[in-house]
Amino acid sequence: MDFAYSPKVAMLRERLEEFMNRLIVPRFAEWRDRVAGGEYPPAFIEDLKAQARAAGLWNLFLPPLRPDEPGTRLDNLEYAPLAEIMGRVAWASEVFNCSAPDTGNMELLHRFGTAAQRERWLVPLLEGHIRSAFAMTEPDVASADATNIQTTIRREGGDYVINGRKWFITGAAHPHCRLLIVIGKTDPEAPKHRRQSMVLIPSANPGVEIVRNLSIMHQFHPEGHCEIVLRNVRVPQENLLGDEGEGFAMAQARLGPGRIHHCMRSIGQAELAQALLLDRVRERRTFGRYLHERGVVREWIAHNRLEIDQARWLVLAAAWRIDRDGVRTARKEIAMIKAVVPRILTRVVDRTMQAFGAMGIGPDTPLPELWGWGRALRFADGPDEVHLDQVARIELESAQSRRGESAAYLIPPTAQN
Ligand SMILES: Cc1cc2nc3c(=O)[nH]c(=O)nc-3n(C[C@H](O)[C@H](O)[C@H](O)COP(=O)(O)OP(=O)(O)OC[C@H]3O[C@@H](n4cnc5c(N)ncnc54)[C@H](O)[C@@H]3O)c2cc1C
Repeated sequence: MDFAYSPKVAMLRERLEEFMNRLIVPRFAEWRDRVAGGEYPPAFIEDLKAQARAAGLWNLFLPPLRPDEPGTRLDNLEYAPLAEIMGRVAWASEVFNCSAPDTGNMELLHRFGTAAQRERWLVPLLEGHIRSAFAMTEPDVASADATNIQTTIRREGGDYVINGRKWFITGAAHPHCRLLIVIGKTDPEAPKHRRQSMVLIPSANPGVEIVRNLSIMHQFHPEGHCEIVLRNVRVPQENLLGDEGEGFAMAQARLGPGRIHHCMRSIGQAELAQALLLDRVRERRTFGRYLHERGVVREWIAHNRLEIDQARWLVLAAAWRIDRDGVRTARKEIAMIKAVVPRILTRVVDRTMQAFGAMGIGPDTPLPELWGWGRALRFADGPDEVHLDQVARIELESAQSRRGESAAYLIPPTAQN
């Protein structure tokens, strides 16, 4: 594994840092104020998008699937350090057309869409003209197990008719959201993992009702994590994505790089927390000494660094594995980072909050938002326990082929005397 930046990545990092520092970070507070005043997305976002595109900082996430495909840029390992930089500001990814859930949705359309579907949905998504959402989770069933999904997708004449209730659907409240990729059951009698399919539903279709935008730990996210009712929603059969019965497999494929992107951005957020901590403890004094002179604070600084770097190396290793061997082979590394990185983010932010005193949980720093987001990521794209179970399963499988080998290291009772 070689994680050194290639000249291309080094150049893009420099350009992205410069763009962030000049055009995005200065608007950090302004974005908040405008959204609080009801302007979402703030008008300056479209202007920034145009500038990002002109600077070649656009759709950087889309890994090459075939050499002749349009929009292909970097592989996952090359994208990771760039996503980390974008991650420092929650809304920055939108400026570079690299936001979740659009990135995962674009990958889905890129891999499984027909020519007509790509033309209608993928092209405007790649252009940044529309946004999209991915709807799997349902309030009525434990959705960590996607085979529980109850939404029905029923054939009727030349159409599909969809009924169900989804929730926590990210991006559905964005004013530019035009597409819902919905997973539901087409054949309840088929083998367990062949019952599900995906359909493309224009979000303005009759029967699509956004019931509410759920807050996350009482924080309002304007793009939305929405509860949506689908009531006799009708789409033509051409809106089926992939084949009937392929929904479960496609959802698995989608969540590979998508999970990785969240983790890459989380490392940028943890770095921001560490930067805030370092600045704060060098200027704040109690009982005659600076905070950074206290042993406990120095341990926080060190633990943050140890954990951030562990997270980063694990993410890079997962990205490297996906690029080299594909999502299926990399599933252990993907599950590992998904379980590790959000916890590290919350721990790093938690230490920083403590160092800030009461200010750390007030409204004047991004820390509460970062903490809440780290906590939320322990559910998004599947809860920790499912990822840990996956890691354990793969460990046990690999132990099966070496069964009994460890016995050679056991010390027989006679040798102990
Ligand atoms: C911020 C945020 C954004 C989200 N965005 C989307 C989105 O865009 N689209 C979408 O479809 N969904 C989205 N989700 C939903 C998310 O994917 C689900 O919450 C997650 O898959 C868990 O499903 P559930 O909430 O139904 O929990 P359940 O399935 O009810 O699970 C409850 C708990 O049971 C435990 N558990 C489950 N399985 C196991 C196991 N195998 N072993 C041990 N314990 C287990 C875990 O502790 C788990 O938290 C989002 C969630 C959040 C918080």
